[in-house]
Amino acid sequence: MSKIQMKTTLVEIDGDEMTRVIWAMVKQRLLEPYIDLKLERYDLSIQERDRTDDQVTLDAAKAIERYGVGVKCATITPDAAAVERFGLNRAYPSPNGTIRAYLDGTIFRKSIMVKNVPPMMRTWKKPITIARHAYGDLFENVELVIDEPGRVEMTYTPASGAEPTTLLLHDFTSPGIVQGVHNLESSIRSFARACITVALEEQIDLWLGVKDTISKTYHGYFREIFRQEIAAAAEHPGASGVHYLSLLIDDAIARSVRSEGGFLWACQNYEGDLMSDMVASGFGSLGLMTSTLVSPTGKWEFEAAHGTVTRHYLRHLEGEQTSTNPTATIFAWTGGLAKRGELDGIPELTAHAKAIEAAVIETIEGGVATGDLAAISDPPIETPASTEEFLAAVDLRLRDKVG
Ligand code: NAP
Ligand code: MG
Repeated sequence: MSKIQMKTTLVEIDGDEMTRVIWAMVKQRLLEPYIDLKLERYDLSIQERDRTDDQVTLDAAKAIERYGVGVKCATITPDAAAVERFGLNRAYPSPNGTIRAYLDGTIFRKSIMVKNVPPMMRTWKKPITIARHAYGDLFENVELVIDEPGRVEMTYTPASGAEPTTLLLHDFTSPGIVQGVHNLESSIRSFARACITVALEEQIDLWLGVKDTISKTYHGYFREIFRQEIAAAAEHPGASGVHYLSLLIDDAIARSVRSEGGFLWACQNYEGDLMSDMVASGFGSLGLMTSTLVSPTGKWEFEAAHGTVTRHYLRHLEGEQTSTNPTATIFAWTGGLAKRGELDGIPELTAHAKAIEAAVIETIEGGVATGDLAAISDPPIETPASTEEFLAAVDLRLRDKVG
């Protein structure tokens, strides 16, 4: 059998722990035998980030900008304990945060649905895609403890030398706390555009939920920018297939729970953090959740939404067979390869990626699944497959399809 040839380099970003082990297995079993992989590899293991003082992370982001498409393995974001455990020079920031900031990207999280893992919400029939605005608000805040009486004010000093504006936050007579948050028009606009692009591409409804009854200026600003960008997209050929729902955030949450799914939910940074976890567990398992970063200039990065699955890795190091679900990691690879095939005009590459995805879904629906899914599958799966057994079963089905 001759291997599928690629035209443009795909950026490969390797990572840590259990997902690093799975990463290599997926490549070796499902990709290398079928595709002449054209990759530029960046090793973002915590050891390499430490050795390069995190330069490798920035290099990886630049490579995605250069080539257009990257696939990423989960990586450790070191906390104080990890700094100690790995003997790191410092607590490096989240690689995802660095890459996201460099590409000014929006993250779309979406579940892979399989028939025998019914969603916790009985009404959900189609995936819900969560778009999280990954800049500002709570995540770029400044905070202060106030431990004696005093006034806290917020002052804007225009660089032009124009008259400053001062607002009173609170006149404290007893101890308390304050917080300041900000966002940027350009970032909110990029976010709105990325959401509209994906909704148009997938022909699904777009929801925006904010709390502008209370936060008329700050939250209202988000709604207004979305209104402008939706209006600007009205002439798009696919616009009639996308319905835009402008909601209050609490209404959006209530509606999402009783909806049948099948829409894109644009969330502010904090809400996106919460809702993506709610939706992920509502659909069954983190092992079935993918995460795609889309930049305003059309650069793509695909990854699993879950982390490095440390608890399983520690068992793996003890020599134990783990039952870690490789599905989302496989879909990171297939997402990247399918996109490369689409951009480069290589239909057989896209078709191979789709064949792998179908083989994974059929394997699970055929009753072979890892422990996380076996536990919630209906009908029940008595014996969970190990990671390797699961991959071997996927490979068998794949060979049936493409052999
Ligand atoms: P995690 O790696 O997502 O794992 C949390 C738990 O979820 C696991 O212990 C496991 O539960 C279950 N789980 C997650 N993925 C699974 C899979 N594929 N198959 C089966 N079960 C799965 O989160 P964490 O333990 O909080 O974080 C570990 C490391 O990952 C941290 O260093 C964190 O910074 C990093 N992280 C990276 C990313 C990223 O790179 N995108 C995202 C999140 C976290 P059981 O143990 O109950 O089986
Ligand atoms: Mg979260």
